[in-house]
Amino acid sequence: MNSPQHILEHVFGYTHFRDPQEAVINTLMAGEDALVLMPTGGGKSLCYQIPALARPGCGIVISPLIALMQDQVEALQEAGIRAAFLNSSLSYDEVQSIEHQLLHGELDLLYLAPERLLQPRTLALLQRIQLSLFAIDEAHCVSQWGHDFRADYLQLNCLHEQFPRVPRIALTATADKRTRAEIAQRLDLEGARHFVSSFDRPNIQYRIEPKDNQRRQMLQFLKNDHGSNAGVIYCLSRAKVENTAEWLCQQGFTALPYHAGLPVETRAEHQRRFLREEGVIVVATIAFGMGIDKPDVRFVIHLDLPKSIEAYYQETGRAGRDGEPSIALLLYGLEDVVKLGQMVEASEGSEEHKRQERARLNAMLGLCEITSCRRQSLLHYFAEDLEEPCGNCDTCLEPPATWDGSEAAVKLLSCVYRTSQRFGASHVIDVLRGSENEKVRKFGHDQLSTHGIGKSLSTIEWRAVVRQLIVRGYLEVEGEYQCLRLTEICRPLLRGEETLFLRKLPNKATQAQTRNTANLEELAPEEQPLWEALRNCRKQLAEERGVPPYVVFHDATLRGMVKAHPYTRAELLKVSGVGDSKLERFGDAFLAVLRDFPKL
Ligand code: ADP
Ligand code: ZN
Repeated sequence: MNSPQHILEHVFGYTHFRDPQEAVINTLMAGEDALVLMPTGGGKSLCYQIPALARPGCGIVISPLIALMQDQVEALQEAGIRAAFLNSSLSYDEVQSIEHQLLHGELDLLYLAPERLLQPRTLALLQRIQLSLFAIDEAHCVSQWGHDFRADYLQLNCLHEQFPRVPRIALTATADKRTRAEIAQRLDLEGARHFVSSFDRPNIQYRIEPKDNQRRQMLQFLKNDHGSNAGVIYCLSRAKVENTAEWLCQQGFTALPYHAGLPVETRAEHQRRFLREEGVIVVATIAFGMGIDKPDVRFVIHLDLPKSIEAYYQETGRAGRDGEPSIALLLYGLEDVVKLGQMVEASEGSEEHKRQERARLNAMLGLCEITSCRRQSLLHYFAEDLEEPCGNCDTCLEPPATWDGSEAAVKLLSCVYRTSQRFGASHVIDVLRGSENEKVRKFGHDQLSTHGIGKSLSTIEWRAVVRQLIVRGYLEVEGEYQCLRLTEICRPLLRGEETLFLRKLPNKATQAQTRNTANLEELAPEEQPLWEALRNCRKQLAEERGVPPYVVFHDATLRGMVKAHPYTRAELLKVSGVGDSKLERFGDAFLAVLRDFPKL
């Protein structure tokens, strides 16, 4: 039998295990259970695929995502692995044939949805064969708190009873402690070894900008860096999803809408195109979620504020699973802060639930307004400490300027107070800026001492002050009319006993001018033609076989080819991501391209 290291090299074409893959694999090899928490892109799949190949019998992978099974299995088959899936999309004959292979020991990996697995017929079938392991993917689906909850997952604890000798591994990219405890408890994995990795995603560059003109900002971002890259754009409402997708198409991008209100076939088609074609942008509500197992998503844009850091981290985490540079851009504005705050207030839950939701929202807002490293703050939220600023977020790359906003804050707070704490931000700002509009006159606010004391700041600048005062807890937003109200902590500030530094608005010229880091091109200009030729070759092979391009080779592997520029099979095999089977299938096609180019 082959050792894990041998399989890593020859089947997957990689030279080294990543931490903690080897330890996880050894645990399963020893017949013990494991619970693995690793961020997206960390390399969870190998943790069960390799022991399934190295141990006798077939490995059963339980995954909630029927739509993805086919792609996952095709990718394995291209690497020469005997893998299959059973789900409702298969015909009777196909099912028969797979069951036959299973009973005759001709499969190394079988993918199943939990409901399929739990059918008595399936369980009986599995009792008849040798099993190498059970892998429970997306294990956070057992958590009733999360939005991915699946009732079927709760019954998976029966595996332990029915197959006591088969090791189990549960995997998730969800970071928080409560979910981990729930997984261990509900899946009966308390005795399992726990592997908790750092949740840092160093290849993702976090950028958070105040909304100015969101379409212009988005366009600039796409044009600067991402013209031909695949990405996801999240919006809160279905209407905005559709408008945005349509508008992007008019701007010459391939942008597809995705939300729960679209017909199932449309959604499936859009997801399919996103996976198979290159450079497709999906504009989506959070309904486009877990199902995105695409490694080369180069950017995630949020056009609306996520309601918690957990949600933000999960959504941005869909970028850059392949470890290549990627960008997460969030645009947010005062209206988001107000809207989400109201959604919390209007929600059905108990007071305690609302309090928690409010705290989550505030943490999210805090992240937007900080002037220090975003990544340090994000990781800190997940109880992890990063010693040094990361150097790969907007605040590290272009440190934001701050200004002494104490006087402005006092003016604003006084004006809120003088207008009886019964008006929203727009009106208060009108009064500060000395507007004589109808509403101002109607309430006699042109007679107030605070009328016109804030002419030195623009409306946009005032909105930034309001936002930061809300985030820092000096102001609350209340009721249907989004009235601003002072809180207790205002007193020292109003008495002039406190200095308040605020974040300066980014300079328009530099705003949204993201750097080119996400453009993959550490490649020199003279290497571009070869890179393009290799991508073309990949595209053709993928089309012929009806699989997504990354199933043939990942971007990182193509770049490895450009750098190493192999002319022989032996040299090609040394490129990371080229295993025996792929060399056999694709080697000659790529070598033909490589030989067409002189070594630089
Ligand atoms: P996850 O399921 O944790 O999101 P994957 O299993 O999809 O992550 O792996 C992410 C990427 O990392 C894949 O492209 C995979 O091929 C690659 N990868 C995993 N392990 C290694 C390794 N030891 N060496 C090189 N690349 C790896
Ligand atoms: Zn940073």
